[in-house]
Amino acid sequence: MNDRVIPLIDERARALPVPLPDLVAGFEPLGENVLDQLARPLRDLRISVTDRCNFRCSYCMPKEVFNAQYTYLPQKALLSFEQITRLAQIFVSLGTEKIRLTGGEPLLRKNLELLIAQLSTLKTLQGQDIDLTLTTNGALLAKKAALLKASGLKRITVSVDALDDRVFKSMNDVDFPVTNVLEGIQAAMDVGLGLDQSGLYSGIKINMVVKKGTNEHEILPMARFFLAKGLTLRFIEYMDVGSTNGWRMQEVMPSSAVLALLRTEFDLVPLQSLKRGETAERFGLKNQHGVLDSRCGEVGFISSVTQAFCADCSRARLSTEGLLYLCLFASQGHDLKTLVQSQASNTVIAQSVAQLWRQRQDRYSLLRAQDLGSGAGAPGESLASSQKRVEMSYIGG
Ligand code: SAM
Ligand code: SF4
Ligand code: SF4
Repeated sequence: MNDRVIPLIDERARALPVPLPDLVAGFEPLGENVLDQLARPLRDLRISVTDRCNFRCSYCMPKEVFNAQYTYLPQKALLSFEQITRLAQIFVSLGTEKIRLTGGEPLLRKNLELLIAQLSTLKTLQGQDIDLTLTTNGALLAKKAALLKASGLKRITVSVDALDDRVFKSMNDVDFPVTNVLEGIQAAMDVGLGLDQSGLYSGIKINMVVKKGTNEHEILPMARFFLAKGLTLRFIEYMDVGSTNGWRMQEVMPSSAVLALLRTEFDLVPLQSLKRGETAERFGLKNQHGVLDSRCGEVGFISSVTQAFCADCSRARLSTEGLLYLCLFASQGHDLKTLVQSQASNTVIAQSVAQLWRQRQDRYSLLRAQDLGSGAGAPGESLASSQKRVEMSYIGG
């Protein structure tokens, strides 16, 4: 039995009030792309719809902390669907084009399809459909795939860390069998979720967190299985998110090592990034005739530890209770909930968000990379342990 005791500081209570915009100094209409201090636009919004989860992945919600004594947010503290949609609309008016629903486990949020139906009607400043997606552990996907598709969801990311049931169960730590998740992915494909106009499932992505010593031997079996289905498999470096997962640099398998391993078996071709701020470095595969073929699937690498992508980071995160976080590694959020519950108009809220974004300087992964290079103490761990950060299950991955 693991009797590791991890002190948990509740960062949820430390919300920063949002300064109201100086309306006298200048009225700014909605419909404007805002840029932060590093000239990064506000393109992506990740919304956590619940802080609860039916898994206890040790890298995210370790059992020792998220146990029967842990206090989750009460139902009344959660943003309502109307509040989420209103805030989403405001973000879209500031240039946001992509919204990802996450958690915790988003499929645990009751009637989530109603929120999806509302969000899927939003249009970007250019008049395009908003790029709406959802990240799930897949446990409830078989049951909900048809409903999600019917409510307007076009893309989905499913997290799968191993195909070997023993490894998968040890990583989710609740004995959940991998076959149920695979059935969920198949159900999503069967209802046409993620199916594009060329008949490819480009809208279904599989996320695998690689933890050295735990599941690296699953990399090739995972690639064989999901690429044969023509899906996109993304390898995520194990990150020092939150303050509870006991992160150590020695357990990070660099993407370069994953790529080298994949190349022993697959003919991978680097792909151009589709847009600025893309998190993954992408590779396509060649078919048996040696030609790059999108039907052969795609692999991606999210290398937040070894290749910081802060320079182009256009992501904001909205916590389950309505705090705005400007970085995954931030320790404090800005209180949008109080604002949305006040009499403040959409214009005033938009100006407040714009003001916060304009002041943004966050670039934690870049600083961590410098820390890694400094050679001071255990590589990267000095920064990782020096700051108290909010948990990923609370602000969403
Ligand atoms: N419960 C859903 C799921 O697991 O897909 C959504 C929330 S989860 C926080 C979002 C993503 O973050 C998942 O793909 C998960 O594997 C990833 N994640 C969680 N903790 C992580 C860590 N320490 N390092 C890297 N990725 C992590
Ligand atoms: Fe739950 Fe997702 Fe975190 Fe795993 S990674 S504990 S499934 S929120
Ligand atoms: Fe963005 Fe913060 Fe991650 Fe850098 S560390 S990529 S700023 S979320």
